[in-house]
Amino acid sequence: MQKIAVLTSGGDSPGMNAAIRAAVRRAAYHGVQMYGVYHGYEGLMRGHIQEMTLGSVGDIIHRGGTILFSARSEEFKTEAGQEKAVRQLHEHGIEGLIVIGGDGSFRGAQKLTEKGIPTIGVPGTIDNDIPCTDFTIGFDTALNTIVEAIDKIRDTATSHERTYIIEVMGRDAGDLALWAGLAAGAESIIIPEADHDMNDIIERLHAGNRRGKKHSIIIVAEGVGSAATYAEEIKQRTGWETRVTVLGHIQRGGSPTAFDRMLASRMGAAAVDLLLEGKRDRMVGIRNNQIVDVDFKDALAQKHQLDLSIYQLARTLSI
Ligand code: ADP
Repeated sequence: MQKIAVLTSGGDSPGMNAAIRAAVRRAAYHGVQMYGVYHGYEGLMRGHIQEMTLGSVGDIIHRGGTILFSARSEEFKTEAGQEKAVRQLHEHGIEGLIVIGGDGSFRGAQKLTEKGIPTIGVPGTIDNDIPCTDFTIGFDTALNTIVEAIDKIRDTATSHERTYIIEVMGRDAGDLALWAGLAAGAESIIIPEADHDMNDIIERLHAGNRRGKKHSIIIVAEGVGSAATYAEEIKQRTGWETRVTVLGHIQRGGSPTAFDRMLASRMGAAAVDLLLEGKRDRMVGIRNNQIVDVDFKDALAQKHQLDLSIYQLARTLSI
C-alpha cells in the first residue's frame, strides 16, 4: 500500500487526536502517504479528503475532540452511499482506511471491506462499550472528568447535608458509572448490567444516616433512565431533600489523560501496521496491556462485558 486514510466517526472522544497523530506518523515512518477524511463517512462520500503531513498532526496530542471532525450519516448506511464512498477512495488512489469510532462506525467499515477497501477499526468512545478490548480511547479521560465533578459535588453535599443523584453517560453500558462510583466513593451505583433494589438503596441511605452520615451520593448510568426519576422516588420515600446533577457533554471533552494518549498512540500505530501487513476487517484492542486485533465479525457479534466484581466491591466498600 502506498496511500491510506484515516477518519473519525460517531461520538467523539478525548484521545482521538492522539490516535490520528500516531496513525499519520506511523504511516510516514513506513514511507506511506496518509490522507485525512473530514466529517466521518459523510465527508468520505463528499470527497472531503486531504493529504496529511507530519506537521498537520503537530500540537494535537493534548487536545480533546478530533481535528478531522465527526459526523453521523444516514446516507452512508445505504448501498448507494457506500458506493459513493468507495468511488471517492478509488479516485484518490487510497488503498486502505482506518476508522476511529464506536460499534456503529465499525459496521460501516465492514461494509467498505465487503466492497474491496481494507479497513481497520480503532475503538474511540468514552462509553467503553466495545467488546474484545479492555479499554476504549476516551474512557479514562471521561472517568476522570466525572470523578473530579463528583468530588466537587461532595463538598457542597456535605455542607448542605443533602442526597445527590448524579447521572453519567455510557449509553447502554454502566462502565463509566461503575468506575466513577467506586473511585469517588458513591453510596449506591445504578447500572443496566446489575439489578437494583430500591428498598436496598433506601435502606443504605437510612443506615448511613443512623451512623451520622451527612450526605449521600448516588450514581445513575444513563442506560437505566433519568436521575430525576430516582431522585423523586428517594424524596418520596425518605422525605429528604434530593438534588440532581446531569453531567452531560462535559464528559466528552477535555485534554486526554496520559493513559488515553498512551492507548491512542499504541492503537493508532497498530492500525497502520495491520493494514500494511495485509490485514483487513479487524479491530485493534487492548487486552492485559497487550495490543491485540480481532475480527470485526467476532467483535460485533459479542456483547461488551462489564466487570461485575467491581460492582460487588463497590457495594462492600460503601456500607
Ligand atoms: P458510533 O460509531 O459511535 O457507534 P454511530 O452508531 O452513530 O456511532 O455510527 C456512526 C456512523 O457509522 C453512522 O452515522 C453511519 O454513517 C455509520 N453506520 C452505523 N451503522 C451502520 C451500518 N449498519 N451500516 C453502515 N454504516 C453504518
